Amino acid sequence: MPRTNSLQNLSAWYRRNRRELPWRHSGDPYHIWVAEVMLQQTTVRSMTPYYEAFLRRFPSIGALAAASEDEVVSAWSGLGYYHRARNLLRGARHVVERHRGRFPDDLDHALAVPGVGLYTASAVLSIAFNRPLAVVDGNVRRVLARIHALRGRSKRKESNYHRMAVEILDRRNPGEWNQALMELGALICTPRNPACPACPVRTACAARRLGLTAVIPETRPRRATADVYVKAAVIERSGRLLLVRGAETPLQRLWCVPHTSLDSTVAPNLAEELRKRYGMAIEPGPLLLRTRHRVTFRRIRLEAHAARLHSNPDSTAHDLLWAAPEEIDDLPASSMTRKIIKAWLARQLALDL
Ligand code: SF4
Repeated sequence: MPRTNSLQNLSAWYRRNRRELPWRHSGDPYHIWVAEVMLQQTTVRSMTPYYEAFLRRFPSIGALAAASEDEVVSAWSGLGYYHRARNLLRGARHVVERHRGRFPDDLDHALAVPGVGLYTASAVLSIAFNRPLAVVDGNVRRVLARIHALRGRSKRKESNYHRMAVEILDRRNPGEWNQALMELGALICTPRNPACPACPVRTACAARRLGLTAVIPETRPRRATADVYVKAAVIERSGRLLLVRGAETPLQRLWCVPHTSLDSTVAPNLAEELRKRYGMAIEPGPLLLRTRHRVTFRRIRLEAHAARLHSNPDSTAHDLLWAAPEEIDDLPASSMTRKIIKAWLARQLALDL
């Protein structure tokens, strides 16, 4: 579909209505790269404080490349999907080694950066270097599906979306255009109840014309939320707390207080399960915390107890660490564990008073 007058309204609409987001004040490809990676699987509102803290801690690609994996994952703690942090670190090291710390400004070299796929490369290159590359994210897919009234599985192929995005790309101003399309999806062409009367591209929109905005895009069913029950043990020795780290996803490689499986739908037996999972013998004590917590699709009923250790965990299957609470702040620890330790510290404080 050729660009129409209606589509051309989009850039003007964007300049008037765009949200003032921290990375929009920057033409620095590193800032845009970090923002785009964080925005994958995280909303703008949730990720913004993490973005600002991350850049304070790692203000340049060189600073990030020089950091340890533990430091980077720790700065990412709470955002989830930790492979993104590890990929960002691998990517930063590659950029330092191959490109003297400057994000490459051509597509082939950008795609060779570990962890950088077509979406991220196109976003960084179009926004930071004005390269004529179309960006297709979830918001853009939804807008395109509605403008073209796409129905049926074969039409929803990634290559099809990409072709349509390239067709309407403003090649003179691709960075602004891509952001405008994404912003339209975020603010106006929302998943439910799109604000069509306020939409700058409404006259080009087939779904609106056909009265199909409520059924397009046709979506695959989302992974259902799982309600699970997790118990955890806070074990203290001389002011230090026992942390474990194993291969279990989604908390892979994050330090955690010993806890039961994340997949149990019934209340687990804490002592028995920790014996099976970690080869340790404990005696559960007073309840420290009962709360709700969310890890990806899991909605967790979480219960944490102070516990006494009778025999050490098996250190061949898990990494073990005794850490002071203030040291845990700088470790890559799960947000669930941070929440539990906060409750434990509050209780210590109350006992001291
Ligand atoms: S007219 Fe409505 S459905 Fe069509 S692109 Fe605009 S907001 Fe989306």
